[in-house]
Amino acid sequence: MALDDLYQEIILDHYRKPRNPGRLGDAQVEVRHYNPVCGDELLVGLRLDGDRVAAVAVDGKGCSISQAAASVMTEQVLGRPLAEALDQAEAFRRLMHGDGEPDEELLGDGIAFKGVARYPVRVKCALLGWMGFKDAAARATAGQDGGETVYGEEQDETAVRAARGPGAQGAGGVSPRVEQAKEGTA
Ligand code: ZN
Repeated sequence: MALDDLYQEIILDHYRKPRNPGRLGDAQVEVRHYNPVCGDELLVGLRLDGDRVAAVAVDGKGCSISQAAASVMTEQVLGRPLAEALDQAEAFRRLMHGDGEPDEELLGDGIAFKGVARYPVRVKCALLGWMGFKDAAARATAGQDGGETVYGEEQDETAVRAARGPGAQGAGGVSPRVEQAKEGTA
C-alpha cells in the first residue's frame, strides 16, 4: 500500500469512527469553532485535572478533513499533560504550514494529514479541531467560560484566493462558496 493510500485510510477511519464524539457531561469548558469557508463546525468540550487533559470530546459536523483531524486531536491529547498536548498542537500546525521536518512522535495519526498542506483552503479544516482545543485549554487554565469563534472574513478571503491557485483541486469536497468565487473570476 502506498503511503498516500495509507494516510487516506487513516483519515477515512477517523471520519467514519470519530474518537471521543459527542458532548462531555462534566465539561469544564465548551467552545464552538466555525470555519465558514467550508461550513465546518466543532463543539469542543474539555476538562483538565491539574495540568492533565482528563476528558475531551468533539461534537462536530463538516467535511471529512475537519472531522477526522478533530478525532485525531482528541486521541492525541486525552490523558496527556497539557504542555505535551500543546506541543502536539504546535507540531500539527507546523505540519500544515510545511514548516520543518514533521515530528511523527508528536503527530501520531496526525501525520496522515501531511498532504493537506498542499491545499491552503483545506488547512483551516484540518486545524479547526486543534484551534478549538487550544482555545478550550486557554480558557480552562484561566478559569474562564466557554465561547464561540468564527474565523474571520479576511482569513476566509485569503483561503478562497489560495483555492483559485494551481493545485487546489482534488482534495475533495470544495465548498459552494469556493465554487462561487471561481465562477466570479471566470
Ligand atoms: Zn472543511
